[in-house]
Amino acid sequence: MDLLSPPQPATDDARYEIFREKDLSYDGHLFVGVSSTGIFCRPGCPARLPKPENCSFYPTADAALSAGYRACKRCHPAGGDTVLIKQLITLVEDEPELKVTQATLAKRGIDASTARRQFLSRFGMSFADYARARRLGRAAQTLAKGGSVLDAQLDAGFDSPSGFRTAYAKIFGTAPAKGQPTPLSIDWIETPLGRMIVIADDVALYLLEFTNRKNMRRQFERLRKVQGRPVLPGRTDITAQIERELTDYFKGELLDFKTPLATSGTDFQRETWAALQTIPHGQTRSYAQLAEMIGKPAAIRAVASANANNGLALIIPCHRVIAKDGGLGGYAGGLKRKRDLLDLETKSTKTDY
Ligand SMILES: [Zn+2]
Repeated sequence: MDLLSPPQPATDDARYEIFREKDLSYDGHLFVGVSSTGIFCRPGCPARLPKPENCSFYPTADAALSAGYRACKRCHPAGGDTVLIKQLITLVEDEPELKVTQATLAKRGIDASTARRQFLSRFGMSFADYARARRLGRAAQTLAKGGSVLDAQLDAGFDSPSGFRTAYAKIFGTAPAKGQPTPLSIDWIETPLGRMIVIADDVALYLLEFTNRKNMRRQFERLRKVQGRPVLPGRTDITAQIERELTDYFKGELLDFKTPLATSGTDFQRETWAALQTIPHGQTRSYAQLAEMIGKPAAIRAVASANANNGLALIIPCHRVIAKDGGLGGYAGGLKRKRDLLDLETKSTKTDY
């Protein structure tokens, strides 16, 4: 059971009330399918309230989709952020100096505990922590561009230098100083196969992984150590680019990713990853073939390990490497996902005649 979700109402009447009242505390936990239109919505959808006799209720977007409903174009119930999360993210960007308290949120009609819960579930941190991290991220950008510590402090909305130093050091592990490395931005993207973590700067993509893959935390810590740069919530043009490409990829309309990549690994790993990227969409190779491709036919185990640790799922297509006997082999993101990816690619490679 998901401890972060509110208790489900017992009757359809009670469920209908949630939609009638646009009760956002159920956003992400309750969906309504509307038989007269064939679409399904989340609570808080701006579209007109459907008649109760046309409503069926579902605990997940998947369940509504399996029941044959299409996602509503106005409230995007199948993915993306909840209405409240969108509202709060906009708030942080538009009013960076805002101090997040129960009172300041209440003034804007936002329930602080709902905000906290939804942010914990989406970002793994409370909204107050998210807002603080964004403010410190702006400060880090200022310092990286050669701005003064005072400029950075004011950008971050801190009145006192000591408060700023303490908060900054807590996130970045060092005192604020001119010319510090540019932070990396971390964000999350919904895909038909689950949520993915994206880490990027303005120039390249550093990490793309399913959030629930094996050893996710280890991958993340390794990247942080290698880069020596702070990682903060936020998105860049590169995040937007990979999000667009992923959408097209899952629609079967994109065969090659164009987003610029930043990889870090040993020479052997880089060689393996380069070879992986030459396996065309819709095809597979065995681990032994991959080892031969880099001229080290005996290094099958090492190749498999480099394969699993590339940090850029889908783009460096480790899912295209399977066992010699045609079996699936392994996949850090789970075998079902590997099967789904290969099925998707086989289908999208076929040409219509
Ligand atoms: Zn809707």
